[in-house]
Amino acid sequence: MQNLTKVALIGNGISKSLTPAMHLQEARAQGIPYQYDLIDTSAPQFENQSIHALMSYARDHGYNGLNITFPFKRAVLETLDHIDPIARDLNAVNTVSISDDGIHGLNTDYVGYLFALKRGYPGQTSDRVLLVGAGGAGCAVCLALIDYGIHDIVVYDRDSDAAQRVVAHISSIRQNARICIAETLDPPKMDVQGIVNATPMGMAKFPGAAVDLSCFQSVTWVSDIVYFPLETAFLAQARSCGLSTMNGSAMAVGQAIKSFEIFSKYPADPDRMFNSFGVIHKSQGT
Ligand code: NAD
Repeated sequence: MQNLTKVALIGNGISKSLTPAMHLQEARAQGIPYQYDLIDTSAPQFENQSIHALMSYARDHGYNGLNITFPFKRAVLETLDHIDPIARDLNAVNTVSISDDGIHGLNTDYVGYLFALKRGYPGQTSDRVLLVGAGGAGCAVCLALIDYGIHDIVVYDRDSDAAQRVVAHISSIRQNARICIAETLDPPKMDVQGIVNATPMGMAKFPGAAVDLSCFQSVTWVSDIVYFPLETAFLAQARSCGLSTMNGSAMAVGQAIKSFEIFSKYPADPDRMFNSFGVIHKSQGT
């Protein structure tokens, strides 16, 4: 009889997350005993608890793995014994494994976007790419683009300090890449072939798109990392202009695959997890 893999998602307002169902379906398909709980600081049991208290709870209750989301991706670093080099570069952890060796943290935003690029990058590695959105996910996307082989990136964020931080930080750790900041979105001056949306624009709470593609003559492809909904206004406009597109599903699935493998210690089946993601996403009405 295999040991139970006991994992949880720690975050605030996480009741609609697709991650537990994706893990549970993959575990069921492989016959792995698996429990996935929510440690939600918007629920009365965990309300207002610090990340230190939540991590102690997880250790004391025998969890072997944790997915970590908003607002704890940075704060959790202080509670870890070992931090993966990429997570350290990004200063953010969203996956934690707990074992006799201690508590290890890594960042699957990076792993997930790299998985998405390998599975369906719609451009050429020689392309110049405009990355819009320089928050936590944007920083991971920037690093994944470079590690995939795209070495010419322009970063724009309406908060220019955020863009500046990402450009300075990523330039210092990936000196092989040419990364610059765009103070404004000025399409004629940009000459980019690809655009990645790493802002929340396109989600139900943030309707519309961060970029108007009709002004970008040189663009041949776009990628959106938003996955609620999968069809954003940005992707719809791209398709209507005849551009190649990549939606946020592969990044989400790539992240789930990585954390499932870390927690269960068994390889996941990517096609089956893609299929589960599609079914679960549809059942949520998006
Ligand atoms: P964040 O809040 O850390 O960063 C968002 C950044 O976008 C901020 O710097 C903000 O200033 C900028 N921004 C917002 N609106 C803008 C606009 N109109 N123009 C330019 N910049 C704008 O958020 P995050 O954690 O980086 O996540 C961003 C989005 O990525 C989320 O909403 C989520 O949907 C998506 N995401 C998807 C996956 C996936 O697996 N597919 C993983 C992580 C995040």
